Amino acid sequence: MEQADAKVVERERRMRDMIARLPRASLVERKDITEDLILIKLDPQAPFDFKPGQYCTLGLESVERAYSIVSAPHEPQIELFVELVPLPDGVLTPMIWDLKIGDTMSIRPRAKGIFTMDESYRRHLMVATVTGIAPFMSILRSYLHREAGGHRFYVLQGASYHDEFAYREEMEEMASARPDTVVYVPTVSRPNEERNAGWTGARGRVNSIVEECVDRFGLSPDDTMVYACGHPGMIEDVKERLDPKGFHVMEERYWKQ
Ligand SMILES: Cc1cc2nc3c(=O)[nH]c(=O)nc-3n(C[C@H](O)[C@H](O)[C@H](O)COP(=O)(O)OP(=O)(O)OC[C@H]3O[C@@H](n4cnc5c(N)ncnc54)[C@H](O)[C@@H]3O)c2cc1C
Repeated sequence: MEQADAKVVERERRMRDMIARLPRASLVERKDITEDLILIKLDPQAPFDFKPGQYCTLGLESVERAYSIVSAPHEPQIELFVELVPLPDGVLTPMIWDLKIGDTMSIRPRAKGIFTMDESYRRHLMVATVTGIAPFMSILRSYLHREAGGHRFYVLQGASYHDEFAYREEMEEMASARPDTVVYVPTVSRPNEERNAGWTGARGRVNSIVEECVDRFGLSPDDTMVYACGHPGMIEDVKERLDPKGFHVMEERYWKQ
């Protein structure tokens, strides 16, 4: 065996041993949204604390990856919204797709991340691509559960197809129950494709509607924090559009470009 290969094998063995010693969480629910999007619920075998907006680190065999948490801290299970990165590029997600109810994954004992709500701002503009809605769901579920008030949330979510908005119904329910608190704008980037037939909502990539939304909702950098989550290209573009206007943009990039 070449020396470089031996190093890789040794690193994998160490990762596998480390992952085997971590706490586990069992898969208790899976809902297929599309061919490459699922919602899953995990039951952690040890108590798992987190702040809304943070992520957990899950592992199988010798691989670990980060996942923003959809559920709020008061919920008993950890809910995640996961997109498949097919083989040969994806590593952990093809393995997650093969899991059966009752199977377990490793979970690092501590949640991580600073992509959390800055309560010092009154208004919050949250921009997501598909699974990037996850931390915003957690923040909103927690906020509404606490019956907190005084803040307003504008959630913009982009996807290629309308059937990828897994939380649309819940978001629309929140928006109609608390119109003073939640505004939800889903937008599809391929409005003319057959799969989007009948779509009457916003059109275009989510980054391309962000300035129009800022104007429509009368948002100003003085009292508005902007959060962008998911696709790194979307995040870059949102920053390019809103930085010059003086907005502070917090970001959670799901991968590197
Ligand atoms: C803080 C954080 C939170 C995250 N939260 C989520 C989440 O809530 N849901 C979720 O599905 N993923 C999330 N991710 C991405 C996740 O960690 C994995 O990278 C992803 O699930 C793919 O894992 P993989 O092992 O199959 O492929 P990887 O080995 O991680 O990636 C393979 C290749 O695909 C690219 N890639 C990764 N994800 C995507 C994607 N969604 N679309 C297109 N290309 C991609 C990578 O850049 C890489 O080139 C998050 C990442 C970070 C850093």
